[in-house]
Amino acid sequence: MSWRFDNSYARLPEALFTRIAPTAVRAPAIVLVNAALAAELGLADSELDSPEGAQFLSGNRVPPGAEPIAQAYAGHQFGHFSMLGDGRAVLLGELVTPDGHRRDLQLKGSGRTPYSRSGDGRAALGPMLREYVIGEAMHALGIPTTRALAVVGTGERVYRETPLPGAVLARVAASHIRVGTFEYCAALREPGVMQALLEHTIARHYPALVGHPQPALALLQEAVDRQCDLVLAWMRVGFIHGVMNTDNMALSGETIDYGPCAFMDAYDPSTVFSSIDHQGRYAFGQQAPVAMWNLARLAEALLELIDPNEDRAIELAKAALGRFGERFRSGWVDGLCARLGLQAREPGDAALAEDLLAWMQRARADYTSTFRALTDGFPPADPREADPGLQAWRARWEARVGREGQPVEVVHARMRALNPVYIPRNHKVEDALAAATGQGDLSPLRRLLEVVSRPYERRPGLEDYEQAAAVSAQPYRTFCGT
Ligand code: AMP
Ligand code: MG
Repeated sequence: MSWRFDNSYARLPEALFTRIAPTAVRAPAIVLVNAALAAELGLADSELDSPEGAQFLSGNRVPPGAEPIAQAYAGHQFGHFSMLGDGRAVLLGELVTPDGHRRDLQLKGSGRTPYSRSGDGRAALGPMLREYVIGEAMHALGIPTTRALAVVGTGERVYRETPLPGAVLARVAASHIRVGTFEYCAALREPGVMQALLEHTIARHYPALVGHPQPALALLQEAVDRQCDLVLAWMRVGFIHGVMNTDNMALSGETIDYGPCAFMDAYDPSTVFSSIDHQGRYAFGQQAPVAMWNLARLAEALLELIDPNEDRAIELAKAALGRFGERFRSGWVDGLCARLGLQAREPGDAALAEDLLAWMQRARADYTSTFRALTDGFPPADPREADPGLQAWRARWEARVGREGQPVEVVHARMRALNPVYIPRNHKVEDALAAATGQGDLSPLRRLLEVVSRPYERRPGLEDYEQAAAVSAQPYRTFCGT
């Protein structure tokens, strides 16, 4: 097997991690291997998808060149600060890809570490498959994300409310450096540690800033921009992360830690799926303010490195955070207009877009399929067609699109690239996971992966993957899966 590791994080100050090997599991067996991702990493999927591959991907054997560590970090969870760290994961190391990129390879569910607190260090098969499929869907939608290289069954049970089949997820990320990693350094107050992490993060994710005269401020500014763009990308496709704690926000700008996440059906900014999010802190429409709040925690952590004069540091940090609001507002309107096929900007465009959302919320119309119906022309006998509110809006929109002065096919082609047909619908995800974990039948999951891997291209025979589930008496609920 051709592992090429270079473990730069393991060369940082020891306070940032603990060297620890994964805990072996009883009977590792491959459940899924991501062949496309393996190829990008320069690994042969045929070798990974084998009994020997299962040994490596479960953590029973450590690949040559890996230096397993559990990373230390802290985090604000639902607003409360805790010292955390990888309680059920180890970073094997950084793979250097054939095209010269550096990618973390982490095993999640790999056993207890010094950061496990009361947890068992393990993961259940269902949530790890969920992370796999949602991550692949996000990747195919064009949204920065960590990805699953493999899921391996452990042959052991994990005990949650009931005994569940155990699994290890092999996860690939640009890095696992989180807002909470900087919060950890700030709480630690050991000289030099934060500085080393800062230099490492810049070299890795923002190489254009190497040698910048104000590196901490520059990092904050870039993080603000990237997180803002990430939340905008989520909102374009109706994604709700569900647990946007500061330990689940990566400095790389990738989506990380798929727990209780889900895609919104009917458009409503207050939509929440997570069973533990009682206050709606991480609701669909709260994601921008929460990202801002998290970035303010990053700014606080970096403060001493921003400027030795505290007042001056606060002023600079505030200015950097202040970029978020305007970038978000203009990005949101521009994004909606682009989804409606508009390139030029007229004064009434924001209102036109917002009025569609207001109609969708009143009518409880499906977010994904309404945008796509506008793109493709409504299917015959679509009940939305008869809605007078939507008819009036459509007349305004069609007149506005007419003023773009471009052939309608050109406009529709642009819209098709932004408005997906297929998202991982909640009921489809649940059905696929139930078959995989209950009967060991992976075929619905493989089919779902196939469907969401080409989200913008409608294909015959996949009609039932387009529709939202029938509205049930029970609201859809997701769980953290810990
Ligand atoms: P998460 O909610 O998955 O982002 O995890 C929050 C924190 O809890 C992290 O420090 C995890 O490592 C830790 N954690 C989650 N599940 C477990 C578990 N089963 N055993 C040990 N630590 C865990
Ligand atoms: Mg986490």
